[in-house]
Amino acid sequence: MHGPAGGRGKWASPNVPHRGWRCVNIEDLGETQMTCEMCESQAIRFVHYMENDRYNGPLACGAVCAGHMESDLARAEARDKKMRSSSSRRRRFPNRAGWKINAKGNHVLRANGYRITVFRKRIFWGAVVSRPPVDTPYFTREKFSTVEAAKMAAFDTMSFMEEHVPKLNPFRSLIQPF
Ligand SMILES: [Zn+2]
Repeated sequence: MHGPAGGRGKWASPNVPHRGWRCVNIEDLGETQMTCEMCESQAIRFVHYMENDRYNGPLACGAVCAGHMESDLARAEARDKKMRSSSSRRRRFPNRAGWKINAKGNHVLRANGYRITVFRKRIFWGAVVSRPPVDTPYFTREKFSTVEAAKMAAFDTMSFMEEHVPKLNPFRSLIQPF
């Protein structure tokens, strides 16, 4: 039993808030390869990064815990479903047309109103996605061992922004199928 009813992991801790979380990004790990950091029991592939003002740092969570944490099971389920359904587009994303390498050695793509920059940080890769004129850029984590993996995480971040970051013009969808 996952989620708060199981009472496992951080659900059992009085020092971890159970409500008031928000999803700040998502990531498809490509395969089941980590344990939900909230219940500390469910093996997950599709990660919902959750933040809370009363907790230091994000937690990487499965859909069930995420839904309870944000008090909206349907919303978490919709994010999860979207990740599952876009997994083949995601796999093709690093090789799609339009990627360029700039003078700094960053891999950059401009598409459908989004600007993606994949950058090296020491031996790892990370990515940042922005959608002008929205001010806040969204970062992936910075620990990808290949540029392709960072590009795929950027795809997830872009997909998150499409659903969660308000558009200035609601009558025009900025993202098209890749
Ligand atoms: Zn969990």
